[in-house]
Amino acid sequence: MTLLDHAVQAVKELRPYQPGKPIDELAREFGLAVEDIVKLASNENPLGPSPKAITAIEKALKELTRYPDGNGFNLKKILSEKLEVAPAQITLGNGSSDILEFIVKCFVNDGDEVVVSQHAFAIYGLVAKMQGGVVTQVPAKNWGHDLEAMAAAISDKTKVVFVTNPNNPTGTWNTKAEVDAFLAKVPKHVVVLLDEAYFEYVHKPDYPNGIDYLKDYPNLVVTRTFSKAYGLASLRVGYGISSEELADLMNRVRPPFNVDSLALAAAEATLKDDAYVRQSIQLNDDGMAQLEQGFDQLNVKWIPSVGNFICFEVTGKAAEIYQGLLEKGVIVRPVAGYEMPDHLRVSIGTYEENETFLLALKSLLQG
Ligand SMILES: *Cc1c(COP(=O)(O)O)cnc(C)c1O
Repeated sequence: MTLLDHAVQAVKELRPYQPGKPIDELAREFGLAVEDIVKLASNENPLGPSPKAITAIEKALKELTRYPDGNGFNLKKILSEKLEVAPAQITLGNGSSDILEFIVKCFVNDGDEVVVSQHAFAIYGLVAKMQGGVVTQVPAKNWGHDLEAMAAAISDKTKVVFVTNPNNPTGTWNTKAEVDAFLAKVPKHVVVLLDEAYFEYVHKPDYPNGIDYLKDYPNLVVTRTFSKAYGLASLRVGYGISSEELADLMNRVRPPFNVDSLALAAAEATLKDDAYVRQSIQLNDDGMAQLEQGFDQLNVKWIPSVGNFICFEVTGKAAEIYQGLLEKGVIVRPVAGYEMPDHLRVSIGTYEENETFLLALKSLLQG
């Protein structure tokens, strides 16, 4: 028996999550200057953090010797007022990815099933398999979640259904009518995890707010994050909102002190900075329009997106275009691992970053 033979079988079968290429890594590989690199690969906020977050962190620095507030009292209080839920309904995570893992730990035993959509966020399958879960993947409809088919895919063994609204990487979304019908069909002993990481960016009138369903659905967990519109991806802070019953269960598997004091301080400060969030959303709206027009001018097809990213079609040459963009200092995200081999995903950047990307793409397509 070797050491690795002793490892948990489910872990041995995992393939690690593939993040976007870091700027420093590209700089080293191609001998580029860090300032010349445009990273549009991880749906990060191009505006930089809220100045209020930086001030709050500077203040919090003096207390680095202390453990953070393991219950996140202040942050939960601000969130509960803003979202009109009880603090006891909120679970804080080291990023909202943490919450996905808590739910799986609480519900998924060896051989239990989780239902996901084709082209959905990769972390769901990863955390489920970690616990020995079996992933049922439901074919997408027009790149988006087919909620009817997802409800129909629930079996006696299903413990959790993951719904991403809007979805990453496709940018597709489900309407209120679709989510209403879906939730009504899911058995009450099955958890629905509704991932709203991009909630703030969506403007559609019939886009539902997951929190509105909580009073009728004690089996629902809505997740949101400070990593996107709130500009704090590096600090790792997100949260789940659910029934108090589910929050209490998650709290049992949550590592103590899973959100550090700098993250708590920055999140609290950014929640109070409405102007920053508004500006982030405006920048995204403008950048999305800029990229859509840019793609049209290049005759490049794209999938309509309500997130802070967009997938474009480069059939037969996605790998080549990805590599070509890297050589020009532009990092986008390959999505072949999401069963989208003919697309690439680009995050919305600043006006200048978007221009740099479009020019680089143009020269690769026409050069
Ligand atoms: C970015 C993203 C998240 C957020 O992850 P964090 O752990 O909060 O940084 C969650 N779900 C989806 C679909 C995402 O794209």
